[in-house]
Amino acid sequence: MPVFQTHTARLVRSVPLSEPTKHLEFEKEGVLRFGFVAGQWLSLKQARPDGEELTRAYSIASPPADDNHFALCLNRVQDGFMSNFLCEMKEGDEISCQGPFGDFILRPPLRDTIFIATGTGIAPFRSMLHWLLADPSRHQGRSFFLLFGSRTEKDIYYHQEFLQLADEHANFDYLPTLSRGGPEWKGLRGYVQEHVPGIVQGRAEMIAYICGLDKMIKANRDLLKGLGWDRKSIRYEKYD
Ligand SMILES: Cc1cc2nc3c(=O)[nH]c(=O)nc-3n(C[C@H](O)[C@H](O)[C@H](O)COP(=O)(O)OP(=O)(O)OC[C@H]3O[C@@H](n4cnc5c(N)ncnc54)[C@H](O)[C@@H]3O)c2cc1C
Repeated sequence: MPVFQTHTARLVRSVPLSEPTKHLEFEKEGVLRFGFVAGQWLSLKQARPDGEELTRAYSIASPPADDNHFALCLNRVQDGFMSNFLCEMKEGDEISCQGPFGDFILRPPLRDTIFIATGTGIAPFRSMLHWLLADPSRHQGRSFFLLFGSRTEKDIYYHQEFLQLADEHANFDYLPTLSRGGPEWKGLRGYVQEHVPGIVQGRAEMIAYICGLDKMIKANRDLLKGLGWDRKSIRYEKYD
């Protein structure tokens, strides 16, 4: 079995995104630069009060940078140990981590892309989109669609940030959709899969990246396969 190096990460900033969800920024100790590819995840380790050591995977929510910082987007899972432990961490607290791991990354050649997420499944796409759109040689003028499903307006994490990215980049369409939007909501309504056909039909050679819980991923994979997409053009990361 391969042995992976364990690092210590210190929480430097904790920002509530909505009631059960937090954006946590860490710095990795002992390194000047933390190298990873947008879309990868970290394995976090923590002992429970009974002594059992738990590890859980968390997608990196920030783009690769020239320093030792990274961010996570965390949802409290009812009765779950790790997600609640992380959400209760205070600035200055430390946690052990290994990684980066995973191959849910943008594969060349770059194509027009639809990113489909619900909840904290937005994390790897925040990393990918900031990384891509920061440099024309990375995005190559391709078209990117972010279809982000939430219940209500307050659950749309990083909303202002994505609105601004869409404002700055004509090739990026930001499409939040609400399953329980109030009467004042002017955007899309319903589940993400209801809007996929309208985006992808009539466009050749696209690729889809899907991230979140199993049920949503399955619904979107089935839909795309039904539209004639081949398996290699549908990439996904499952959280449960
Ligand atoms: C590759 C990968 C990346 C991940 N990235 C993230 C991330 O960026 N942010 C994030 O919040 N989570 C992410 N997860 C989920 C995370 O690893 C944990 O499963 C989650 O935080 C629950 O851990 P826990 O110890 O609190 O609860 P557990 O005791 O492990 O789980 C309790 C129950 O909740 C279910 N469950 C697990 N995850 C969720 C969820 N997200 N929503 C609802 N129910 C769930 C489990 O199936 C289980 O039945 C990722 C998972 C994988 C495999």
